[in-house]
Order: sequence, then C-alpha cells, then structure tokens
Amino acid sequence: MIRARLFIRNDDVWTLDKNFRFFFDLAIDRKLPVIYAVIPGKMEQGLIRFLCRAKEKTPGLLDIVQHGWLHVNHSTNGSQKYEFGESRSFQRQREDIQRGLKQMRLAFEDHFMPAFVPPFHGYDERTLRILEQENFQIFSAGGRKPQIKSRLVELPSRISFSRYDSQKVSINTAGEMMAMLVRDIGRRPLSGIVTHHADFVTAASRKELTQFFSIVEALKNTKEWRILLFSDLWGK
Ligand SMILES: [Zn+2]
Repeated sequence: MIRARLFIRNDDVWTLDKNFRFFFDLAIDRKLPVIYAVIPGKMEQGLIRFLCRAKEKTPGLLDIVQHGWLHVNHSTNGSQKYEFGESRSFQRQREDIQRGLKQMRLAFEDHFMPAFVPPFHGYDERTLRILEQENFQIFSAGGRKPQIKSRLVELPSRISFSRYDSQKVSINTAGEMMAMLVRDIGRRPLSGIVTHHADFVTAASRKELTQFFSIVEALKNTKEWRILLFSDLWGK
C-alpha cells in the first residue's frame, strides 16, 4: 500500500446553497477534512454562522481561509483571469486583501486560518509581498510556478476535479482523479486537490464526487493515507 499525504481544498464558498450543502455533507459524513476558501466580499450571514458552528463542533474537519476579496476578474488582456495581478497596483491589491482580511477576522474570529487562495490562481510579486506584510502564513494557488520567493509556505493544489476546456466546465471521473492523485503522490510529499462545489450540479458529476470521497475515506481508514488541513501543517 502506498503512503500518502494530501489536502482537499474547496473554493468559491459564500452562500449556503444546495450545491454547497451537498458537498459539505458528503465530506463531513465521511470525516474527510476540507479547507474552505471563502470569498469575504460576498459571504452571507447564514454561511458564516454555519461554518462557525461546524468549526466548533468538528474543528479537525475544516479550515476556513481567505479567497481574495470579491472574486472579480481584473485581467485586461482577456487570456488569464485574475483578481490580483498585473493591472492592479500595489495599493489596489493591498486595499482588497486588507478589506477581505478584516471581514474574515470579524466573521470567523479564531476560526480563521491565515491562509490565502488567489481567485483564478492568479497573482504577482506584489500580491505575495502584501500577504507577507499582513502576516499570512500559507499561500495556496495552482500548479504554475512563477518563481517568486516569499516566506509564505506555498501549498499548491495541482489536481483539479473540474476541467476547463475552452470555457466549458466538465468534471473528472473518480477513476481519473485517482489516477492523477496516485501519479502526484509518487512525485511529491504533499498533494493538493482543488474542488468547486458549484460544478457538481448533475447527478452524474455528484456520483463521481461521492465515489471519489468514498475511496479516499477507505484509504484514510487504513491509516496509510493522511488527509490534512492547513492548520494541521501550521500547528494552529
Ligand atoms: Zn475561485
């Protein structure tokens, strides 16, 4: 049996809709820890209450981290989307990050884990400098490496459950996810999976997510697979 260390991050959390509840319940019923990346400028009161209660009840099963500010695309060249990047000055980026951080602290208090997930996985050197200044500890983007040094702990999510082919979103099968995961596990000490609960709309896609989570649950129960939160890695 191969040994593995991995984390599951779920992005674009802001409202308690059916898709979110489906995803959340599926993970918590199987005792799978998930890092929830919350959009501070959009999050609703019901969602805040729900996550606070969940964190109090089962602190080892979720982390609450910051996902940008409003999740707005500011890219001007039309190719690579980003909320933080080239077209945005240091000042503008800092305003948004600080506003988001303030909202996250107000809403979640000690339940907030100082980790940052940049929307669309876009960022530049300025973004990282601001996050350092604001005392973020963990930075989680995608697999692309822009080679910017920082003192943040970088924990990228290289494996995405959603596939983006020419603006169309589709969902990998559980089998495809396992294949990608096993390949990644062989390559590095920690593998990151990113999910978007809003993409699991059809019965077929939900079946794949259910199957994938059930396999991971079984592997977790063998104790050879460890599913980690950022707070486990950070020791918070
Ligand atoms: Zn996002």
